[in-house]
Formats: sequence, C-alpha cells, structure tokens
Amino acid sequence: MTLIRPDLDTLPAYVPGRSVPGLIKLASNEVADPPAPAVLAAIARAAADGNRYPDLGVVELTDRIAEFHDLAPERIAVGCGSVTLCQQLVQLSCLGPGDEVVFAWRSFEAYPIVTQIGGADVVTVPLDDEYRHDLDAMAAAVTERTRLIFICSPNNPTGPAVRRAEFERFLGAVGPDVVVALDEAYAEFVTDPDAAHGRPLLDVHPNLVVLRTFSKAYRMAGLRVGYALTSPELAAALRKVCPPFSISSVGQAGAIAALENHEEILADCVKVIAERGRVRDALLAAGFTVPVSESNFVWLPLGERTTAFATHCAEHKVIVRPFHPDGVRVTISHPEENDALIAAATAFAG
Ligand SMILES: *Cc1c(COP(=O)(O)O)cnc(C)c1O
Repeated sequence: MTLIRPDLDTLPAYVPGRSVPGLIKLASNEVADPPAPAVLAAIARAAADGNRYPDLGVVELTDRIAEFHDLAPERIAVGCGSVTLCQQLVQLSCLGPGDEVVFAWRSFEAYPIVTQIGGADVVTVPLDDEYRHDLDAMAAAVTERTRLIFICSPNNPTGPAVRRAEFERFLGAVGPDVVVALDEAYAEFVTDPDAAHGRPLLDVHPNLVVLRTFSKAYRMAGLRVGYALTSPELAAALRKVCPPFSISSVGQAGAIAALENHEEILADCVKVIAERGRVRDALLAAGFTVPVSESNFVWLPLGERTTAFATHCAEHKVIVRPFHPDGVRVTISHPEENDALIAAATAFAG
C-alpha cells in the first residue's frame, strides 16, 4: 500500500547552488547586484496590498511584455518563473508514458525533473565535443512519439548558444507537429552575432515557444517571474495549465518596473560580459579547458576532478556548482569575487 506514485522514487532532486554566509556564491547564475531601485520601490508598493490576491490574468504585465517584444498579448503567457513554464509545457503536450521529451545533455537540470513529473519519457542527446547542442542529432532523435523538445541557448551549464542557421535548419527538419521550446534565460548576455534569437522566428513557426525570465539579467530570481512568447494557441494552453494566482502581485509589479527601466538594467549586463571574457582568459591561461560562453557563467569540463575542484574552491571561500562527473559551472560576478575564483582555480591547477 503506497500513497505516492512509485515513479517519484526515481525523480532526480533539483540541486540548488549552495549559499554559505560569508562565502562567495558563484553557484546559481544570479547577478550579484540587488534589483534596480525602481524595482525595489515597485515591489514595496505592491507588498502594501499583500492582503489582496494578485491579478489572475496578469493583464498589465502581459501588455507590457507584448509592447516590449512587439507581439500581440494573446501570444504571451506569464509564469511563476520560466521553470514553471517548462513544467506547463510538459503538461500541455504530454499525456504520459510513451510520450517523449527530447533535450540535450548536459543541459538545464530542470528538464528531466519536469519531464518525469509529467510522466513522460526522457530522451537525451549528448552535446558535441565543443559542449554545444548537436541539433542534427537532436532532429534525428525525433520520433512519432516526440511531443516536446527543449533547446537551451545559451546552454546551462556549458555556455554556448545555438546558431541561427543551424536552428532554422533544425526547425525545418522537426516540422510543425512537435513543440520546440527555446529557453533563452540568458539572452541578455549573448554577444555572438550568429546566435539564434527566437522572437523573429515566431511568425513562421507556430510550434515554437520562446522562454524568457526576469531571474537573471533583471536580477529578480527571488521574485519568480518568467514568460513565454509563442502562438495564440500554445499561449492559451500554457495559461490553462498555470496554477491559479501563482504569479505574485509583488513579482508582477517588479517585472513591470523592470521593463520600464530595461535600458538601465540591461546596461549592467555589459559589465558581466566584460568580466566573462577576463575570467575565461585567466582560466585558459591557468591551463583549464573553458568553452566559449554566451551567458553569465563559464564551464570547466573537469570530469572526475569535478568534486575535488568544488571542494578546493570552498576551502578558498568560493562556492561553485559541481555537476559530477561532468564539470563545474562558475557564475560571473563582480571583479573582486571573480578574482577570488581565479586565484582558487590557479592554485588548483598549479
Ligand atoms: C535560470 C534558468 C531559468 C530561469 O528560471 P526561473 O524559473 O525563471 O527562475 C530557466 N532556464 C534556464 C536554462 C536557466 O538556467
């Protein structure tokens, strides 16, 4: 006699980046600065109305996102973070066992979790030897049972973005009968002029879902707001399977203020991008392999040395994110914190 469905026993747990007071946290891809002042003011105002339910329809924020992306509001679905939208995508596309969700591996650790919660089958396709999505292999992995494909670009945790030409070829090969989710959580940090961007492809591919978040560049990870840009049909289905009232009033207010101040907020990403280059160069000089990153973190494919490196960094007061036995992800932070990481890593290599 069991109260709980047995397949949950095999569900991998999401491992959050560790946070230890007094130590430097480079483990969760957050931007180190607090939310922008205008965002802080907006969430304080919203908190004063905290006895009231949030706007169930997320109307104002949806309109602002629509304006921002020059897209009709019915093509937008807001979620309690884009992780929740990933789960909603599984719920709306998969009935259960036999339905397949395809994604690269290693990629975002939420994908296997939400797939298994949805009762669907996980199909993973290895990254290529440059730690990039192998889109041709992913297209070849599609069967008549494939319902959903996650493409994480830039890829968490390895860093590279998929390129426009290969992504368009991939969408053509997959065809219109499979939902393709392009997870652009780190879009604001992309500098490669050949990188794929989902927004311009939406009109041609009604099966495409572009996922964005306020958690990273907008510095609102604790406020839990993300959104999807897609066809009116898929957006309506996403809203159907959204848990009612899950996007808090504080999150909605903060996100509206963030969009109003996006130029100022996004200007700060330039500092992270500059530091990303400096950290990567220093790590390369210390003898590490470091794939090119289009995001706010870098990847060290350390294999069996993954755990030893993470432990060594913690002894130097730096918390990184190990993914044993593949490698370590290090979030780019302020120059002083990055210097501490570089010093620890150099000591490990030497
Ligand atoms: C951080 C991250 C997200 C954002 O998740 P939220 O739920 O919006 O905080 C989504 N996808 C990837 C790949 C991420 O790394």
